[in-house]
Amino acid sequence: MRVLAKTGKKDIASLYLAEMRPGKFVEFVESLQPPLPKKKKWVLIVSTLFGCPVGCAICDAGGWYEGPLTADEIFSQIDYLISSSFPERVVSVEKFKIQFARMGEPALNPAVLEVLKEFPHRYNAPGFMPSVSTIAPHGSEFFFNELLEIKRENYSGGNFQLQFSIHSTDPRVRDKLIPVKKWDFSKIACYGTKFYRSGDRKITLNFALSDDSSVSPDVLSRYFDPGVFLVKITPVNPTINAQKNRIGSIISGDTPGNDPELVKSLRAKGYEVLISIGEPEENKIGSNCGQYVRKFLTGDYKMTAESYRYKMEPVHLID
Ligand code: SF4
Repeated sequence: MRVLAKTGKKDIASLYLAEMRPGKFVEFVESLQPPLPKKKKWVLIVSTLFGCPVGCAICDAGGWYEGPLTADEIFSQIDYLISSSFPERVVSVEKFKIQFARMGEPALNPAVLEVLKEFPHRYNAPGFMPSVSTIAPHGSEFFFNELLEIKRENYSGGNFQLQFSIHSTDPRVRDKLIPVKKWDFSKIACYGTKFYRSGDRKITLNFALSDDSSVSPDVLSRYFDPGVFLVKITPVNPTINAQKNRIGSIISGDTPGNDPELVKSLRAKGYEVLISIGEPEENKIGSNCGQYVRKFLTGDYKMTAESYRYKMEPVHLID
C-alpha cells in the first residue's frame, strides 16, 4: 500500500488516500473526539471494498465497484495508522474503535471476519472495540452467522458495536435510499435478538434523517425490542451523491436534534435515542461520508497515481 495523500485537521480527523494495488485506491481515516485526547478515544475508519456495489443515495462510495480487499489489505490501513502513533503495537487508548465503514459494505467481504479474528493476536489493544455498520444485504447470512460466533468468542461484554443502517421505516423510502435487496425488519430483529447477550452493547438502528425520511416509532416497536436495539439519529452528510439526489438533512450541527417530537415518541416506546451530529469541521475535511476517492476521481476513477498527485498535495493539513 502506498499512501499518496493526507488531508484534514489533526486534532479532529485526518483522511488518507492510498493506492492499494496498481490503479486501485482506497481511503481511510483516523479521528479524535475533541476535547478528548488520543489516549482517551481514537477512532479509525477503514475501507473494505474498492468502491461499493450497493450505491446508497447518500453515499459516495457507491456507483463503482472493483471487488473486495483482502484481509492483509484491510490490515495495511490499520497497521499504517497504528504504527504511526504506536510503533510498538501497544495501543494504550481507553476507547479504541475501528469502524469497518469507509468504502464498502462490510458484510459483502468475508475478509472482514478474518481481520476481526486475527486482530487480538496482532496488537495489544485493551481498549479495542470493533464497529460493523451494515445495510444487511440479501444473501449475507454466512457473514452474519460467523460474525455472531466471532463476537461471542472475542468481543462479548460490551466490546463490539453492531449497527444496521436502515434510514426509514417506510420500505419505499428505504429502497430509494438503499437500492438493493436487503433483509427486512423481521429478519434484522430476529438476528439482533440472537446476537445480543446481556452485557453487550445494544444494537444500533441508524437513521440518517433526510427531509424525505419517515421514522415511525409504532413500526419500529412492532419489530425491534428496546431491550436489544437503540436508535441513533445522524445527519445526512453533504456528500456528492446526497447533493446530486437532492437529499437534504433535517438535522445539522446548527440545529441539533431538531425533531424533538420524534425523539420523545421513540423514548416513549422505550428506546434509548442517541443523536450524533459529529464535528461540523468534518464536513469541510470530507472525513465523514464524503468519499475522497470519488471526489478526486470525478468521471474517471481509473486515473493514475500521477494524476492523483497532480490534483492532491501529498501532505495537506488544514491547520
Ligand atoms: S453507505 Fe455503505 S453500503 Fe451504502 S454505498 Fe456507502 S459504503 Fe456502500
